[in-house]
Amino acid sequence: MAQKGFYYDMTICIGCKACQIACKDKNDLPVGPLFRKVYTFEGGKFPRPWFYHLSVGCNHCADPRCVQNCPVGAITKRAEDGLVIQDPSLCIGCRLCTWSCPYGAPQYIEELGRSGKCNGCYELVDQGQNPPCVDACVMRALDFGDLSELRAKYGGTNDVAGLPDPGLTNPAILINPSPEARR
Ligand code: SF4
Ligand code: SF4
Repeated sequence: MAQKGFYYDMTICIGCKACQIACKDKNDLPVGPLFRKVYTFEGGKFPRPWFYHLSVGCNHCADPRCVQNCPVGAITKRAEDGLVIQDPSLCIGCRLCTWSCPYGAPQYIEELGRSGKCNGCYELVDQGQNPPCVDACVMRALDFGDLSELRAKYGGTNDVAGLPDPGLTNPAILINPSPEARR
């Protein structure tokens, strides 16, 4: 199966959250839920403190727990590009996807009484456009495309400190980790 996914260069991300805001705006989300979130990790001590940022949304996994556990089939994995898509009209708001995903990607939207998630902006991708989080990044730390092409272009890993064991769902993400995030 073809697989599209995200690339993220942690070493140049400045933690500005433009990606997070672009995603929230595109998905017209109320206060609270985020389909992409920028985390910051810090450690060490003077004179060698360290920190790194981690921008993460849905990873359109090869073994998506959200798809496996949705009782009404509201979340599916597209055969043509592997994007994991939720149909909001089918969601009954049971929250099983929010509890199933090791990345916390699906979010319960109280105002709507249902869950939602990053759909990879498939309607834009189908027109040859990038997801807005990618284009909003002032540092060009994010990219999106065919995972094998991203791997050939950048390399990267899906196993970094701060993310769960990639063996759980086989996430379609490639990250260039900061030294402290390497496993
Ligand atoms: S990151 Fe979570 S919501 Fe996205 S496909 Fe994987 S299990 Fe599903
Ligand atoms: S927009 Fe780019 S630089 Fe800013 S937080 Fe997101 S990934 Fe990092």
